[in-house]
Amino acid sequence: MAKKIAVDPLMDKLVSLCKRRGFVFQSSEIYGGLGSCWDYGPLGVELKNNIKRSWWEAMTHRRDDIEGLDAAILMHPQVWITSGHVEGFTDPLVDCKKCKHRFRADQIDGKTCPDCGGELTEPRMFNLMFKTFMGPVEEESAVVYMRPETAQGIYVNFLNVLQPSRQKVPFGIAQIGKAFRNEITPGNFIFRTREFEQMEMQFFVHPSEDQKWFDYWKEQRWNWYLEIGIRPEKLRWHEHEKAELAHYAKAAYDIEYEFSFGWKEIEGIHNRTDFDLSRHTKATGKDLSYFDQERNEKYIPYIIETSAGADRSTLVTLVDAYAEEEVKGENRVVLRLSPKIAPIKAAVFPLVKKDGMPEVADKIYHELKRHFKVFYDDGGAVGRRYRRMDEAGTPYCITVDGQTLQDETVTVRDRDTMEQTRNKIGELVGIIGAKVK
Ligand SMILES: [Zn+2]
Repeated sequence: MAKKIAVDPLMDKLVSLCKRRGFVFQSSEIYGGLGSCWDYGPLGVELKNNIKRSWWEAMTHRRDDIEGLDAAILMHPQVWITSGHVEGFTDPLVDCKKCKHRFRADQIDGKTCPDCGGELTEPRMFNLMFKTFMGPVEEESAVVYMRPETAQGIYVNFLNVLQPSRQKVPFGIAQIGKAFRNEITPGNFIFRTREFEQMEMQFFVHPSEDQKWFDYWKEQRWNWYLEIGIRPEKLRWHEHEKAELAHYAKAAYDIEYEFSFGWKEIEGIHNRTDFDLSRHTKATGKDLSYFDQERNEKYIPYIIETSAGADRSTLVTLVDAYAEEEVKGENRVVLRLSPKIAPIKAAVFPLVKKDGMPEVADKIYHELKRHFKVFYDDGGAVGRRYRRMDEAGTPYCITVDGQTLQDETVTVRDRDTMEQTRNKIGELVGIIGAKVK
């Protein structure tokens, strides 16, 4: 496989912090790792879950017009023929005859290898879907695919969701779930991986209202990134030109983020027209059209899709939050994660492990634990405990000291300003809650 050694100091530091603090590990690391597969550690799973929860709340709980769904990864193989993925979901692949490195033909200029200048093979088409077999016999009729997108699970359940929910067009179906693509050139940590988690929503509209809803969802999705704390100056729109459009799309805009490795797509908003529902209707003979009582009209709804990645969103929050600064002659690394998505909301420290301080700190820890994810740490100098929590992105550190024992106050240290205030123990839930909710 092609292995380009890219020099990206920021990403190198982030990958190392993620390992050190327990955000993300290489998959099967003790076996030497598996290419572009990553595991989320204790802090990583909290961060990713908080991001998914924020998306789910914004897309379903806070609205009346979107329903949730969790469809199976394995689907009837005919679905992927109907959707166009068996035929069309391919990349042109070339190999270098000299150094054997492999490239996507559409990503390189010219006919010679960018690594060694060697001659390249003719392009051959390569399907990006992972295949496996269902049942004990490995034969062609037993082939099933690992879904390359969650969207099709929504389309084939259109009527199943519509009927019991009693929704009326316009309405949407949202889903978070794993998808798989056998990418030829994965990379950049958790940016492009072969196994990934999507957060997709399909919004069904009258064909004459597609542009209105397309514009609406563009705005909503942009705002969500601001809500999880991403700096707006690091975001921009990219409109797909005709030649770039996927086979099903009439219009597509990407939200891009400025990574150290360039501006890259983090979410796509697509007008998929009636392509998918029409194709499934034709393939199955099941009528997926909708009778609109208000308009007294029967039609196949158009679909506006918003497609984001949970792993990509996690990476964006980490990259955007990462900062290094000099404090009193020392280098401080801090993750300025929004308190809403930070894995740990507060840490509780006894200043020293004696004089009754651990007992009070322990009591505070258990009280806060009923409301938030909190962390107890009594190891080492308090300054070092602060630094560890800075790297974990924890917004607040609460320290029990000598004064606590006299007046039931503690110091609350703010991660970003490093300022400390004294507060009553009884006020802590309110102070932290105001920031993290
Ligand atoms: Zn070569």
